Amino acid sequence: MFSNTKEFKIAYLKKLEMTFGTSFDESTKREQFQTLGAMIREYVSSEWIRTNEQYRTVGGKQVYYLSIEFLLGRLLRHNLMNLGIESVVTEGLQELGIDLGDLEEIEADAALGNGGLGRLAACFLDSLASMNLPGHGCGIRYKHGLFEQKIVDGYQVELPEQWLRHGHVWEVRKTDDSVEVPFWGKVESYQENGKLVFRHLHAETVTAIPYDLPVIGYNTSTVNTLRLWSAEPSRFPANIDILKYKKETESISELLYPDDTHDEGKILRLKQQYLLVAASLQSIVRSYKKQNRSLIHLHEHVGIHINDTHPAIAVPELMRILMDEEGLGWQEAWSITVNTLSYTNHTTLSEALEKWPVRIFQPLLPRIFMIIEEINERFCQELWEKFPGDWGRIERMALIAHGEVRMAPLAIVGSHSVNGVARLHTEILMEREMNDYYQVFPDRFNNKTNGITHRRWLLKANPNLANLITDSIGPEWINDTTQFEKLLHFKKDSVFLERLGDIKKANKEKLAKIIYEKAGVSVDTSSIFDVQVKRLHAYKRQLLNVLHIMYLYNRMKSDSSFQPYPRTFIFGAKASPGYYFAKKVIKLINTVADKVNHDSHVNDKMKVVFLENYRVSLAEDIFPAADISEQISTASKEASGTGNMKFMMNGALTLGTLDGANVEINELVGEENIFLFGLRAQEVLNFQKNGGYNSREYYHYDQRIREVTEQLVNGFFPDTDGEFTAIYDSLLDHNDQYFVLRDFASYVAIQEKVNMAYQDQSMWLEKSLINIAKSGFFSSDRTINEYANQIWNIKPFKVNN
Ligand SMILES: *Cc1c(COP(=O)(O)O)cnc(C)c1O
Repeated sequence: MFSNTKEFKIAYLKKLEMTFGTSFDESTKREQFQTLGAMIREYVSSEWIRTNEQYRTVGGKQVYYLSIEFLLGRLLRHNLMNLGIESVVTEGLQELGIDLGDLEEIEADAALGNGGLGRLAACFLDSLASMNLPGHGCGIRYKHGLFEQKIVDGYQVELPEQWLRHGHVWEVRKTDDSVEVPFWGKVESYQENGKLVFRHLHAETVTAIPYDLPVIGYNTSTVNTLRLWSAEPSRFPANIDILKYKKETESISELLYPDDTHDEGKILRLKQQYLLVAASLQSIVRSYKKQNRSLIHLHEHVGIHINDTHPAIAVPELMRILMDEEGLGWQEAWSITVNTLSYTNHTTLSEALEKWPVRIFQPLLPRIFMIIEEINERFCQELWEKFPGDWGRIERMALIAHGEVRMAPLAIVGSHSVNGVARLHTEILMEREMNDYYQVFPDRFNNKTNGITHRRWLLKANPNLANLITDSIGPEWINDTTQFEKLLHFKKDSVFLERLGDIKKANKEKLAKIIYEKAGVSVDTSSIFDVQVKRLHAYKRQLLNVLHIMYLYNRMKSDSSFQPYPRTFIFGAKASPGYYFAKKVIKLINTVADKVNHDSHVNDKMKVVFLENYRVSLAEDIFPAADISEQISTASKEASGTGNMKFMMNGALTLGTLDGANVEINELVGEENIFLFGLRAQEVLNFQKNGGYNSREYYHYDQRIREVTEQLVNGFFPDTDGEFTAIYDSLLDHNDQYFVLRDFASYVAIQEKVNMAYQDQSMWLEKSLINIAKSGFFSSDRTINEYANQIWNIKPFKVNN
């Protein structure tokens, strides 16, 4: 369509005039952005159509990844890059006097997710398309994505996110593919031709409208689909309050729940889950039937993946379709269902295990509830036969118990594969948290260590490093991440290491500018950039990081001979709006930042920065500039983490506990190239099981701890009366659930090691290089390859032009 800048410019100007009825000279930046986006979408449309056609006619098995979150971020440059037209477009625009970077800034992040779980789904889509795998996403088109965070007076303030205000240039509304989703009503059963038949009557129906986004593979003709559902009113029923009905219906896809650990006990949330599942399954079955195949063979041609428990209703919903709509018997339907579905577990935090009160579930989804009851009865019967008399076990394992429907057990029983997201996490699932189920279904459990797309997180986010890699080992690493290891040849190459150091420095300078613009703090780019960016949660222990900063401050104030290597502590984190403790930690970070940054005794040696509104686009500027990656969760609590992988791939060294994927990072890079500290997972789990930890002992015996904890409440921070009492109490009155004080000394010690290590720059750069060279394992291409071969049984399919 445009193979050179001249053709591009002609097409671009024409498109701009046609779309906006304005001349180029009169056009706004937004119009320029919209024009470019629309052009690219049109540019891929023929490949998109071709991909779909060939999948339908000659392609093999397809997989659908159901996820309540997709944290996509911006798509403009990523799409240009994957299409291989980034340079033509950049130059063409330049000749018109437009900077592509400026247009990029116009695009709103598509923030349809909270954090790691949603970002994983987005990385998976990129890997599926780039590896020519027939795999699509199904999600919800929330009108408002994750809230926008402002910091006012040190406090988090949440503003509604408005990504659709100017429309989303990548989406295509497909009204003809809409489907009806029923809620409420009642179920009647009657005999028909000697068979028991069920009918859902008096339901309140909403229409699910799909919006499709093209998922463009890197340097390939594959264009997969991300289908996002929006809820709209069906034909208006008679005699109702239309405004009320419209409002209620539209509220289903109105907003993303801003919480990635536990669910608000809201009917709305359950409606969202059923909307996603019912709409996606109807649409999957509809498109399958177009291939003129019998549903008996569904699992041979279709895989449906349940990302965390939010879409676990896919189990009873697929049963309902196969039985009520297709007339299959229970046994047959059950075997197809189990063979079609697979499930990923993302957490072992017990407060995050999803449960629904029967009193909410049953009236809202009456037929679905009946099917779950039947699955439960049959499952308990099997358990009874296997473990006769073991009532305790059956009570623990039942899908419905104590007035609640348990979603993780439902997903496990109804899927042929259950995977954890890092080796340690999967072991904890099998040996502890899900051990009952593991005993019954040992073959179902497996590990798939998470990954990140190196195309966004390295090629796009850190182009200078990407160029250095390509200059050194050729471009093959972009499609084959095992090639990363070739970088090990340059371990002792001082020219290479110097270039690596220069690139890090340039990235730090770029971030320093952003820090100055956004937070008004000027930072020293030769200091260590020590970064913790992730959702704010007690188990992630941002608090440990802050207490350490307070300790450093105290020591520098009291001991003038103490001169640690200069540091810039950088934080970014959103707290769930209802999470009181997390918000107090944000206030504490900002309070400490204020104190430190304004104290001339210390502020040439340390700065503390809280960057507001942490999100994908900001993350892309942060990871390339980091020296230290803070991954300090209480061991056993972080299922995998993916931020840790993004840092590693950009040459930061991990300072962390042996938790989640840090365990595997450690194994890959070796203990000399990582900074480990703190309790091990087994120790934490043992303390939790048997007791034996008393946080007050650490308070009494460690003067440093006593000082920093007391400073939370003794007026050390002016005008913060009572502000940090809850934090203080969590550490001392509630026995420090996340072992912050227990790990404090070990954390201080390892931070001192970081100071020493950083001062030998050539050693440091060598460690940095080893981290990059070993990070290929954490490409989501590797992860998706494992899912494709070991869970989904799908094969690459090359779309023909
Ligand atoms: C990668 C990523 C996360 C996940 O970070 P963790 O450190 O693994 O919790 C969260 N938010 C954004 C914007 C990300 O890019």
